[in-house]
Amino acid sequence: MEYPGNLFVVAAPSGAGKSSLVKALLELDAKLAVSISHTSRAPRGQEQHGREYWFISPDEFRAMAERGEFFEWAEVHGNLYGTSRSAIEARMAHGEDVVLEIDFQGALQIKQLFPYAVLVFILPPSWEELEQRLNRRGDTQPEVIAKRMANARVEVAQAQSFDFVVVNAVFETALFDLKAIVHAQRLKYAAQRRNRSAVFRALDLP
Ligand code: GDP
Ligand code: ADP
Ligand code: 5GP
Repeated sequence: MEYPGNLFVVAAPSGAGKSSLVKALLELDAKLAVSISHTSRAPRGQEQHGREYWFISPDEFRAMAERGEFFEWAEVHGNLYGTSRSAIEARMAHGEDVVLEIDFQGALQIKQLFPYAVLVFILPPSWEELEQRLNRRGDTQPEVIAKRMANARVEVAQAQSFDFVVVNAVFETALFDLKAIVHAQRLKYAAQRRNRSAVFRALDLP
């Protein structure tokens, strides 16, 4: 599938800081939009329908999946999560850059569909720090934290299939790294040809 915009996929074990980093990135970059996923899990803390996620029932989720309405979906920590076609198709068709914040199973499905997608894996600096962050967030039950810590070991083992790895030890450093990845992608020949077409024409570049 050919789209004019850049597609970024950010994955990380729960608690590594993916949502905080992507939120900060979006605040700095008006040309970037995040895809809002559908999920069968219940809202957490201050989460709102249509802001963090589209919260739907497992039955509604399965019906959407059967109708082929997802680019990708996966079961993560016992809940269903998916990227709907409608969440990103219009944006990409207009040439906007889109970020998907999804798990590694979804990221690998997206890479199959869109080989040019840029896959970024966020690592926590240590297991201890990951657990502390999950606890500090304060909106997750202890048994849910244990499950997420166990899954995290499986998830980080997938980092080697990604294009880039960012270690989120110092938040500002990780944000800088993420910005650099987005910036470098926009400087690739194909992207520059799309965005600086007048210059390319003036220089007789193909
Ligand atoms: P490589 O990614 O540098 O190995 O080179 P490719 O030849 O695969 O792609 C060149 C550039 O075009 C890369 O920046 C790709 O991400 C980008 N690209 C290729 N096809 C598409 C597309 O359909 N849409 C978008 N947005 N970018 C594409
Ligand atoms: P994820 O989206 O990966 O589950 P969050 O963005 O919700 O993770 O971050 C988990 C917790 O860790 C949040 O309370 C967040 O404020 C905190 N956090 C994120 N990055 C850092 C960092 N570099 N140092 C310390 N705490 C962080
Ligand atoms: P959380 O419940 O903490 O918001 O997210 C749990 C996990 O589900 C995270 O790894 C997150 O990246 C993943 N996730 C969120 N949305 C999607 C999605 O649309 N597709 C897939 N495959 N995973 C998702």
